[in-house]
Amino acid sequence: MKKLINDPDAVVIESLRGMAAAHPELRLDEEHRVMFRADAPVSGKVALVSGGGSGHEPLHAGYVGTGMLDAAVAGEVFTSPTPDAVRAAIDHVDAGAGVLLIIKNYTGDVLNFQMAADMAREDGIAVEYVVVNDDVAVEDSLYTAGRRGVGLTVLVEKIAGAAAAAGKSLAEVKALAEKVIAQGRSMGVALTAVTLPAVGHPAFDLPEDQIEMGVGIHGEPGRARVPMAPAADIATTMVDAILADYAFAGNDAIVMVNGMGATPLVELYLFYGEVEKLLATRGVEVRRCLVGNYITSLDMAGASITILKSDDELLSYWDAPVNTPALKNGVAPAATAAPVPAPRAAHAAPAPAEAPTPAESDAAETTDAETASADVTPADDHTVTLGQLEEWVRRVAAAMDKHKDELTELDAAIGDSDHGANMARGTAAAAKRLGHPAPTSISGLGKSVGMALVSSVGGASGPLYGTFFLRFGKQAGTGSALGVKELAAAFRSGTDGVAFRGKAAPGDKTMVDVLDAATAALEKSTGTMADATRAAADAAATARQATKDMIAKRGRASYLGERSIGHVDPGAASATLLFEALADVVSGK
Ligand code: ADP
Ligand code: MG
Repeated sequence: MKKLINDPDAVVIESLRGMAAAHPELRLDEEHRVMFRADAPVSGKVALVSGGGSGHEPLHAGYVGTGMLDAAVAGEVFTSPTPDAVRAAIDHVDAGAGVLLIIKNYTGDVLNFQMAADMAREDGIAVEYVVVNDDVAVEDSLYTAGRRGVGLTVLVEKIAGAAAAAGKSLAEVKALAEKVIAQGRSMGVALTAVTLPAVGHPAFDLPEDQIEMGVGIHGEPGRARVPMAPAADIATTMVDAILADYAFAGNDAIVMVNGMGATPLVELYLFYGEVEKLLATRGVEVRRCLVGNYITSLDMAGASITILKSDDELLSYWDAPVNTPALKNGVAPAATAAPVPAPRAAHAAPAPAEAPTPAESDAAETTDAETASADVTPADDHTVTLGQLEEWVRRVAAAMDKHKDELTELDAAIGDSDHGANMARGTAAAAKRLGHPAPTSISGLGKSVGMALVSSVGGASGPLYGTFFLRFGKQAGTGSALGVKELAAAFRSGTDGVAFRGKAAPGDKTMVDVLDAATAALEKSTGTMADATRAAADAAATARQATKDMIAKRGRASYLGERSIGHVDPGAASATLLFEALADVVSGK
């Protein structure tokens, strides 16, 4: 597979640098991979931030500019950005009038953006968010993580961006975005599979004579694999699926026919012609349209159709001036008239191979962390000390590393094979951060570990485990020792935080099953700290095994429905390691 790249692992940052070089009206925060308006923050204006995994260009950075987004956060290819990056984006653009986050409905994106929103709110910034979920190929009943966010995202960003530019309040811009989400639907089709730059071969096998009807923007399976057919027939299937889901008939509409990356415009216009004819016969009047590559899936061939029921309000915002790299209309000025030097300077920044990731830069300074000999002597046999908890974090990192392949295999069965790498990377970063500076209280320890996980894990488990440790620390307080009851309360607070953020309950086949069972064992224990933590580890192991027979109701595994039965949940397995490590530290093993 030939690709116009240098290093498969540096595609995202190198592409962003190129975009910043091509568009001096934008600026790039390299560390956080945030593209933002050079003239941000724009005084008095509600700021719009979106983002998500890369590979969907021009979404999202291509929509940063006047009349649309103020900032876009780029994750790895098809992987959500972390909350600290989203938080940095908020800081770049917040002008005091509030910030609206536009999130596509994927568990990882939703959790990481929500967490960034919470962090910003704690700092006194008014942040709201909306979640786009327009893909009719996905049934809510079957796919319990809900419908995927796809093409409608472009329309939400345009219309909400126009409202923000017109001086509307945060509440008004949010309400308008929600109206667009309520009235819009999409569906996609793939003619070929997608190839990730870091993988180098197609992600799935799609025979020459077959197409994937209802495909997602990451090449996820859709409704059905069907024989290849003329464009008119494909358009009929897709339009009818969309119209069956929402009452567009008898209404005006804004319609987008979007290319997935590798379908030429000659085909996209032909396809649009079919779509418009069909809509006319079904009583839908197309008032505005957009045809081109607006939300792609790397090099996948195929197209998607998005239909938005329109009225005068939506049409006027649709027609409002916009000036971004990928969407221009009317007479909107560029975000800044004079080119600014910043993107040029950024362009000359060190190559990504030399730019240390947070984890690596910590690694370079580990010596004092490793030599900072925490006092692991227990104060008494009913107490756990700060020093023991520091040792716990180091043992957890060692355990995740040791069990990395096992966690990866569990995730390969019902997820996307990254849980082992995610947890090993995240807990190593947490252990290394302990010495910079060494926490002086248990709340400080929780915060340090939580932030390390949040900023280095990504995916769904990063914000979940991050929340766990942040809440754990907050509940534990500023002391340097905890009794059994206090430790149980800290675990309960962390567990409640995970359940709340992930909307998961025990029985949903997630890490919550283990966190809840082990915490309950701690709460019940009346013995020494060693007895209590051993009981918690035993309860964790039992709960881990019990996830095997459950149907996954949350996260990626929920897309499998009943096919998730027969596999232990990867997050339940990693959570069990937390409790085993704690029992070992306390019992002096
Ligand atoms: P991703 O699913 O984004 O690839 P990981 O593979 O690192 O992230 O983590 C997967 C684990 O996260 C699952 O096994 C499950 O235990 C946990 N998880 C996923 N979604 C949720 C949720 N909504 N609530 C609680 N836990 C969840
Ligand atoms: Mg995974």
